[in-house]
Amino acid sequence: MQRNLVISVDYEIYGNGTGDVRQLMIEPTERMARICEKYGVPLTIFFEAEEYLGFCRYAQELKQSLGYDPARVIREQVRSLARRGHDFQLHTHPKWFGAAFEGGRWSVRPEELSADELFESQAQADDYISSRKAVLEEMVSAAAPGRKIRAYRAGALRAQPGGKMLAALAANNIVVDSSVVLGLQDYKGRHLLDYRRAPRNRRLWRVRDDVCREDADGAVWEIPIHSVMRRRFHQLTPERLKAKFSSRAPKDRKREIVQHLGIPKNPFQLARFLFAPIPIKLDFHNLSPNALMRYIRSAPPPAADDAMDVLVLIGHTKEHTDDRAFEHFLQLVGQDSSLQVVGFDAVIDELRNSPRPVSRSNSLCSTAG
Ligand SMILES: [Zn+2]
Repeated sequence: MQRNLVISVDYEIYGNGTGDVRQLMIEPTERMARICEKYGVPLTIFFEAEEYLGFCRYAQELKQSLGYDPARVIREQVRSLARRGHDFQLHTHPKWFGAAFEGGRWSVRPEELSADELFESQAQADDYISSRKAVLEEMVSAAAPGRKIRAYRAGALRAQPGGKMLAALAANNIVVDSSVVLGLQDYKGRHLLDYRRAPRNRRLWRVRDDVCREDADGAVWEIPIHSVMRRRFHQLTPERLKAKFSSRAPKDRKREIVQHLGIPKNPFQLARFLFAPIPIKLDFHNLSPNALMRYIRSAPPPAADDAMDVLVLIGHTKEHTDDRAFEHFLQLVGQDSSLQVVGFDAVIDELRNSPRPVSRSNSLCSTAG
């Protein structure tokens, strides 16, 4: 069985509304896409539809403030990249729902929310996903006829509680969610986000009302962002520090990161903090090409019930500063015949064609071939 890699990137400015669309989205995405094209592989772009709708609502004001219309340059880029074969999927940060642009800055909701927390009724959640999907699908299919949006990633990875959100995805033929990071816990929002109980050593599983609980009859597949459990100090890579604290990142965002971490001052507590086990995502903007390859190669073989071997990697256009590192990573992947880069569109086509469940002998057979 060939190991498939999805190179996914979240396409958005900073969550608090700061940052320039051309600098954080348009330019880095174009550079990444060109590098992908050089190696003949698709980039999977998670399009933040909630933020984009804000840019549409305030197009006039933004044009006056910035000298250009961000929604328009985004539309042009989406069409161009879709025409060139890149993969687009849906991403929404509910904290941008109803965001207002006043006095030259955005006011968004202060806390990260899940789609479930935003709406009372299932009908509202269904409408929400349906309308956001339609906005993106219209743009993409104008350039790549017949292309559908079939995967979703929750803003700030907050897919819990998820009953309404997963039902809304299923009702709108979105068959993949890619928000889980095995082992992640996060207290940032109203609800504790807890992905510690997600299935282990699985590439994907079907879900119905909780992204962490397998339900064989669920209509949506969870395909997690691949991660490895390491000590927190392993996360302090030069690449990560450069990405998070680059001169481009707004000062208040940097302060937020440090506050959120809650770094203790007492030396004993500091040691405990640094040695605490945490999941490290396969983030190509936070890890070196060699570390990524090590983690990809050391992923255990898929479980017997996994329909395919797929690892989802993540990055953020706003953290893309180093073309050479990204290109070096694609070079290393290209040199390894057991790896291939695919978009979610291809993953979903393959899942649809695969029998359920795939037997162990089947997977061993294709690995040997
Ligand atoms: Zn995001």
